Amino acid sequence: VDVPEPASAKPSLLSRLTGRREAPRRVLDDDMIEELEDLLVQADLGVETALKVTANIAATRFGRRVTTAEIKSALADEITRIMEPVARPLPIYAKRPQVVLVVGVNGAGKTTTIGKLASQFRAAGKSVIIAAGDTFRAAAVEQLQVWGERAGVPVMTAPEGSDPASLAYDALTRAQAEGHDLLMIDTAGRLQNRADLMEELAKIVRVLRKKDETAPHNTLLVLDATTGQNALNQVEVFRQMSDVSGLVMTKLDGTARGGVLVALADRFGLPIHAIGVGEQIDDLSPFDPADFAAALTG
Ligand code: GDP
Repeated sequence: VDVPEPASAKPSLLSRLTGRREAPRRVLDDDMIEELEDLLVQADLGVETALKVTANIAATRFGRRVTTAEIKSALADEITRIMEPVARPLPIYAKRPQVVLVVGVNGAGKTTTIGKLASQFRAAGKSVIIAAGDTFRAAAVEQLQVWGERAGVPVMTAPEGSDPASLAYDALTRAQAEGHDLLMIDTAGRLQNRADLMEELAKIVRVLRKKDETAPHNTLLVLDATTGQNALNQVEVFRQMSDVSGLVMTKLDGTARGGVLVALADRFGLPIHAIGVGEQIDDLSPFDPADFAAALTG
């Protein structure tokens, strides 16, 4: 007897393929492959990645009778294989201060992620300083100050509307003078004014390099998992504006199953340094490909 899933549970990919958990064996034919492709596209893997994944699954099983469990485990294996190379924590360099520029659209979770990362680095014995580089949004600066207090980390601010590059320069000067291990710089995320934002980010990088020609050492792009395929566009746009070196995907605790991460990994191969799984300070986890694949395939 089928036990219905509780209404609150996220419908899993494969339960949707068959409508029930324990379906009888089915021949893996073109119809089933097409169904699988559709489900993967619905799960936000994107067409290109969905086709690749199903092609790999079909390669060894086409025409055979398969169970849902077999397909599910093959799918999880394929997804894990794509994700494993990108699961890498933020590298910590010997170079001090390590300058981490944090970019992303407003609302993606930059401020929150900076707070969480600062707290983790502090717990690991690193000294951290934060620069509130989104000088156009007073609320963003205040929010970052709250996170700084929570993490026990100083936050450098500048008057509203002032030049973020000059704040970044001052923050690096201070980080060098005080011998901090890490400087994390928040930035604006006004994509509606792309040319301005691009110039702003370029200028921040230019002035940082006057103090340290190797800075910034990381440019973290923060993406919101609930934006689905839009995350792909955001990577394209921010890669045109900055040297994105890695990703943090936020809001994976919500309704988003994060299928877009597979598309991102497949298309860009950028490291996924961490995932946001809630609004509290400890809600930042390392990215685990096998856990992720298991959760995605249900
Ligand atoms: P910013 O504009 O990019 O700096 O974004 P914020 O850090 O202010 O985050 C925007 C909203 O998303 C806030 O309400 C955060 O609490 C929330 N948020 C950030 N990360 C996560 C996460 O991993 N999970 C959940 N559920 N909410 C998050």
